[in-house]
Amino acid sequence: MGALTARDRHVLLAGGGHAHAVALRRLAKKPLAPGVSLTLVAPSTQNLYSGALPGVIAGHWTADSIGVPLEPLCAAAGVSFVQDSITSIDAGANTVQLASGNTLSFDLASLDVGSGIRPLEFAGSKNGLVPIRPISPFLLKWQDAIKSIRGSDTPPSIVVIGAGLAGIEVALAIKFRLTQVGVPDAKVHLVDAGNEIASGNSLALRRKLYRALDRANIALWLNARVRSVDAGIVSLSTGETLEAALAVNCAGSAPHDWIGESALSTVQGRVEVDPCLRSTSHTNIWAAGDTSYFKASPLEPAGVFAVRAGPVIAENIQRWSQDQPLTHFNPQSDYLKLVSLGEQKAIAEKFGITLEGGWVWKLKKWIDFSFLRQHSLPARD
Ligand SMILES: Cc1cc2nc3c(=O)[nH]c(=O)nc-3n(C[C@H](O)[C@H](O)[C@H](O)COP(=O)(O)OP(=O)(O)OC[C@H]3O[C@@H](n4cnc5c(N)ncnc54)[C@H](O)[C@@H]3O)c2cc1C
Repeated sequence: MGALTARDRHVLLAGGGHAHAVALRRLAKKPLAPGVSLTLVAPSTQNLYSGALPGVIAGHWTADSIGVPLEPLCAAAGVSFVQDSITSIDAGANTVQLASGNTLSFDLASLDVGSGIRPLEFAGSKNGLVPIRPISPFLLKWQDAIKSIRGSDTPPSIVVIGAGLAGIEVALAIKFRLTQVGVPDAKVHLVDAGNEIASGNSLALRRKLYRALDRANIALWLNARVRSVDAGIVSLSTGETLEAALAVNCAGSAPHDWIGESALSTVQGRVEVDPCLRSTSHTNIWAAGDTSYFKASPLEPAGVFAVRAGPVIAENIQRWSQDQPLTHFNPQSDYLKLVSLGEQKAIAEKFGITLEGGWVWKLKKWIDFSFLRQHSLPARD
């Protein structure tokens, strides 16, 4: 074991995303040697598991059931929990500024603060446009929309902007839920500026998704840019106007501004990291999940990669605390893609094989809730 420094060293875990939840669970099993203290800063006491969000929208389960409680995980790992939001990082001074006005200093920081949603770029009004992230405020708006739609005489209409995998899942989930609550004639529109849905995915997957959208009677608007969202009307570049009891922005993930504004080396606003997940410009600042740009083989922002980074973060905190060389993150080249279809069906794709059915939905549910069970420790008194 390497020698510890005389003074305590402080590790800051910024954000309680998928990667840090996994890292905390590992750290709980193998506590750190004395002389190292850890603090986790997160805006909420629980992190909502976004892979299971479409199931909440569809009404298959509640929002409460998809939260990873962070405080018990921190308690088990001997980590102090601070409920706050980081507003900036000073990579030279090794400090973060918090929304509360407090400043925290660190010797080592690991960033797992996820991402927001790419703001839509148009000059017109954005009045009533709701991003799918952060998830909690979106879910409140969704509950309001269901209430207003059920109490209205006119056939309701909802617009989802962005026909990537998340936007498709969300549109199908919305349609399913509205049918379940007795509004089967509700119109759900899916709008995308591109000429294709789920671009970057295989033809087999896209074909199945087109069929699912068609079965659900979702109106697809491709090559259409949003020009304005105002007073329940979404105006498109194609000249159409769509009524919208709710307009949801699902136009892809975007890193938080404060990361791009820091002195850290970034690529498209994400922290550029080496094979050990260290910032390429500031090696005592690490990043994982959507916050990071993995230089060796750039990864798409997906929960699976964040989850896989968790054990590497835990192991490397152990090694760092003992002045040992760090281990590498080796993300898999292919992973199981699971796309839910609103109803209790889903599509799975791996190794070029694409399958669809009720059993795939059950498999996805089992995988998602296994993760949630493993990371939901009972609260301590
Ligand atoms: C509808 C939808 C469905 C998806 N489905 C899938 C799927 O099936 N499979 C898949 O692999 N990926 C899926 N994704 C993508 C996946 O959600 C992300 O890639 C994943 O959440 C990234 O995990 P993370 O650890 O980087 O951050 P997250 O798990 O998103 O967590 C980030 C955490 O940081 C906190 N935070 C944010 N800002 C701050 C701040 N300033 N200070 C402190 N803390 C902060 C947040 O509160 C949050 O707790 C989906 C995304 C969406 C929107």
